[in-house]
Amino acid sequence: MFTPSQRMTDSSTQLIHHPYTPPEGFDAPQPGVFKASTVFFPNVAAMRTREWKDKSGYTYGLHGTPTTFVLEERIAALEGGRQCLLVSSGLAALAVVALALLQTGDEVLIPDNAYGPNLSLAQGQLARYGITHQIYDPMNLDDLATRISARTRLVWLEAAGSVTLEFPDLIAQTRLCRARGVTSALDNTWGAGLAFNPFDLDGAGLGADVSAHALTKYPSGGGDVLMGAITTRDAALHMRMKLAHMRLGLGVGVNDVEAILRALPSLPLRYAAADRGARALARWCATQPAFAQVLHPALPASPGHAHWQQVCAAADAAGQGAAAGLWSVVMHQRHTQAQVDAFCDALRLFKIGYSWGGPISLVMPYDLNDMRGSWPAHLARGTVVRFSVGLEDARDLQADLAQALAAAGLR
Ligand SMILES: *Cc1c(COP(=O)(O)O)cnc(C)c1O
Repeated sequence: MFTPSQRMTDSSTQLIHHPYTPPEGFDAPQPGVFKASTVFFPNVAAMRTREWKDKSGYTYGLHGTPTTFVLEERIAALEGGRQCLLVSSGLAALAVVALALLQTGDEVLIPDNAYGPNLSLAQGQLARYGITHQIYDPMNLDDLATRISARTRLVWLEAAGSVTLEFPDLIAQTRLCRARGVTSALDNTWGAGLAFNPFDLDGAGLGADVSAHALTKYPSGGGDVLMGAITTRDAALHMRMKLAHMRLGLGVGVNDVEAILRALPSLPLRYAAADRGARALARWCATQPAFAQVLHPALPASPGHAHWQQVCAAADAAGQGAAAGLWSVVMHQRHTQAQVDAFCDALRLFKIGYSWGGPISLVMPYDLNDMRGSWPAHLARGTVVRFSVGLEDARDLQADLAQALAAAGLR
């Protein structure tokens, strides 16, 4: 006979250790959401021998589940790499690369148009560990060449550059890094694994050593998930990153992984749609007198257009080249800051917000005086406004830009 308390004990145990297990062989479009901190081992011997560093088994949630393994393999394939690590944001991907590869006395080189927080990481964190940095001109190969020294252990590359979208000579940059024996890491968020192959830029295997990608942007596609990926082709380099990743305890939420797995099949379609929309709108912007300069690597007058053609033309069957859905304008210098702000505020479909790659078009004004050591010679002077196209109809977006220019007195 059960006493009430025994019955309770029995039912709670039953709830946890119930004998039913669902049949094997479930097969459906999505690979499933496997959540764990704890992972069971069938016996002590298995616990002792199971390997956490490759994908041969499961040891602890932080080291991977079937769900994270699937996304890692798909991102590695997308980027033309062999191994991939997931981290909690694009910025965390940049940080893990730096923390894995640099030590006291080393130097890292960062392009002048890098994603801003990457420079902040060097200034605010790496400097505290005795790791120095230099900023180089991404559009001047000689400048990069003269800054590489015996202390240089890492060169960051970015194509197109953040905010101003200059396209550097990636092939020459990676060739230079190889010749000088320096590891190169590309922030590949703009290219997303679609515009070019970061590990094979010239069709002969020349490329970056590491690709860091903010999955937050196009792979997520929703503006609602933060995640980053670090992809490599070299097993030893991957292992250095993997060890740093483990020691720093950087797990990802599996529901976020699921959201990205769900969005991944439509990535090429969304990227192509964003490309079409951004090019149409950038071309229209080039006809507007309010804008002194329009920056989009597919526009012949944009800085680095020929370099963009060199590595991105192959990605598109029609030879049109591929590009992300971003473009920037330099507002004519005669327009005051208040007018530029009024223009941004007057936009209705374009929302004011950071990040990009989601369904909603975005706008953000930037003051390059706060971001660059000196004003780049290839840029007109004026406030820079960056646009990111969403998935709205481009005609509606053009009408929105036109009405906002008029509302701000810029037409
Ligand atoms: C957004 C972005 C990042 C950072 O990604 P988060 O997930 O927002 O941390 C890094 N690099 C580039 C080029 C980006 O656009």
